Amino acid sequence: MSNDRRDFLKKSALLGLASIAGNLIGEEKLKTLDDLALNNETSHTLPALPYAYNALEPFIDAQTMEIHHSKHHKAYVDKLNAALKEFKGDAALVSLFAQVSKLDTAIRNNGGGHYNHSLFWTLMQPNKEGKKIVAEGKIAEAITTHFQSFENFQKEFTEKATKVFGSGWCWLIEQDGKLKITTTPNQDNPLMDVVSEKGKPLLALDVWEHAYYLKYQNKRADYISNWWNVINWNKVNELYTTK
Ligand code: MN
Repeated sequence: MSNDRRDFLKKSALLGLASIAGNLIGEEKLKTLDDLALNNETSHTLPALPYAYNALEPFIDAQTMEIHHSKHHKAYVDKLNAALKEFKGDAALVSLFAQVSKLDTAIRNNGGGHYNHSLFWTLMQPNKEGKKIVAEGKIAEAITTHFQSFENFQKEFTEKATKVFGSGWCWLIEQDGKLKITTTPNQDNPLMDVVSEKGKPLLALDVWEHAYYLKYQNKRADYISNWWNVINWNKVNELYTTK
């Protein structure tokens, strides 16, 4: 990978995490960006959710959110820290992702799990009244440019997310100035050197069964169609416009 490319990916990841750090509330609030992205200590911490566990109801239920955050995400953080115990290099997530193909699988799986979930939480927001929401700002224009219409984008993203085989994620990324929809297996993400489509993550959807099974059982398509109601487009736009 070229230095330019590496710098781009590093900056991209930092932007995402800077936004995360700026949005968290509660006791576990991250004090600085260093706590997550640039932290080259071998200790990562579970960020607080930027809203209550029941805030995304009726679309995502409180019990799912609580288990997802306090058990699943926490386990990724704990296992990442355990995997980094003997690690001697730079333990910042962006540095790990750039060379993840050469590292222990536990670092890839749990580092990805930590980053992906930290980002995912900030990309959602309450919509109690269930009003129809669509992209706004510059990202809305870019989506129309690249996908013809918001509806086309939504259709393509939904199809790709629905078809992920087994556990994984669906992403909207910016790659060399273009918007693309990609998917990754397990906890891989578009910042890792192992994925074929690298880029800056703008929107992420967790399609692991643990993200929806309690409320939706096997009906992943219903979970996805409801998730469109809680996307925080301001955040997506901020990620897109912050260069
Ligand atoms: Mn998950």
